[in-house]
Amino acid sequence: MAPLDSDPVFGFDPYGFAATHLSATARATLERLQATLERDVAPLLDDAWETATMPAAILDALIPLDLMRPDGMDAAEADSSMFTGFRNFVLARTDTSVATLYNAQSGLFRTTVRLGGSPEQVAELDPRIAAFDLKGTFALTEPEHGSDVAGGMATTARRDGGDWIIDGAKRWIGGAVTADVLAVFARDTDDGQVKVFLVPTSAPGVGLQTIGGKIALRPMQNSHITLADVRVPESARLQGVDTWRDVSRILRNMRSDVGWIATGLQAGVLDATLRYVRERQQFGRPVGGFQLVQEKLARMLGNLTASLGMVVQLSMRQDGRTAQLDDPSPEPLFADENSALAKMWTSLRARETVGLGREVLGGNGILLEHGAARFFADAEAVYSYEGTHEINSLIVGRALTGTSAFV
Ligand SMILES: Cc1cc2nc3c(=O)[nH]c(=O)nc-3n(C[C@H](O)[C@H](O)[C@H](O)COP(=O)(O)OP(=O)(O)OC[C@H]3O[C@@H](n4cnc5c(N)ncnc54)[C@H](O)[C@@H]3O)c2cc1C
Repeated sequence: MAPLDSDPVFGFDPYGFAATHLSATARATLERLQATLERDVAPLLDDAWETATMPAAILDALIPLDLMRPDGMDAAEADSSMFTGFRNFVLARTDTSVATLYNAQSGLFRTTVRLGGSPEQVAELDPRIAAFDLKGTFALTEPEHGSDVAGGMATTARRDGGDWIIDGAKRWIGGAVTADVLAVFARDTDDGQVKVFLVPTSAPGVGLQTIGGKIALRPMQNSHITLADVRVPESARLQGVDTWRDVSRILRNMRSDVGWIATGLQAGVLDATLRYVRERQQFGRPVGGFQLVQEKLARMLGNLTASLGMVVQLSMRQDGRTAQLDDPSPEPLFADENSALAKMWTSLRARETVGLGREVLGGNGILLEHGAARFFADAEAVYSYEGTHEINSLIVGRALTGTSAFV
């Protein structure tokens, strides 16, 4: 049997998902991205991890690629879940922090504006967001409210004439230190409903503190944010978010992005593991020749391939397509439980895949220089962000049984 070939952009894809679902333009765009990641980003990663800093050179290398509006690609394809999913996959195959940082802008912030803004707000802001001319974040989680933030949100917004006054705190907010604005979710003191405000990071009353001591996604900067009597005009409120139902619509899209990241990082750790087992010799032969090692490699590829199949099919539903690329479905087939299932299950598989990779590298599995350690640690963050394993399971369980076990 011929050995499986690793694709330079997508790694191991034995069922040819990328070849089936990406146009030639999309592939060429992602080839440019992969080349940039290898040349300009990968050499910076170990230092970035050790120093827990995200070098500005990383976004400086990615922004000119114009990945949200690639040359030769129409807006429908550029914004499709399939293309943006594979983009997250390729980023995460190199590094989960870089994928998470890029996705904070292209996924979290942009999706919030696109789904939460009025048509006028989207028309004004979206081109600036796509060009990184306006950098933003997604500020939902709070120090005392993570999983229960829907019902427990303590950050408030009080109407004061033509302005709003925001008070509260947010935690874990990715990319806030380099952002121009924070998309702050707050509860309206009048009607008790959740609303979203674009709050400049420079506004009086906004305090940002970087969260230190992380054991995962170390280069990614996450902030603890305080908001004390922060005044913003009504025009800073995203006009399309009035209830938690609107927030759920946004989260549904973000969970599919994270499913792709959980899949891409499995490709990254498999790359590192295969490099290692071909070179490392024990008992006079490469460790890749041992049966017990090959069983682990096969499980890693199985997890990766199954995850890829799941997110590809999810993206087809998200894009409103059924079986064929040219078969637009009349109904979008994308519900909360669809993306919760993919996020939950791909990150569970990712945790196993990185564990297998790390163990196959032996002691070197915990060293940055051999490439598996970063993925091993980062899978822990992916497992818990964008809804923990339990919360996404409960969304699936609610759909299966008709009974909500958590609200
Ligand atoms: C690296 C990183 C980046 C992040 N980036 C962002 C960001 O940019 N913006 C943002 O808004 N947030 C962000 N988050 C926050 C993230 O979404 C939350 O950490 C997550 O929602 C979980 O909340 P928590 O950490 O407060 O855990 P908690 O809600 O305190 O949960 C603790 C444990 O209890 C379990 N649990 C809670 N309720 C139940 C229940 N009913 N049944 C069973 N188990 C339950 C949880 O699953 C978990 O295991 C980020 C987090 C991390 C780690």
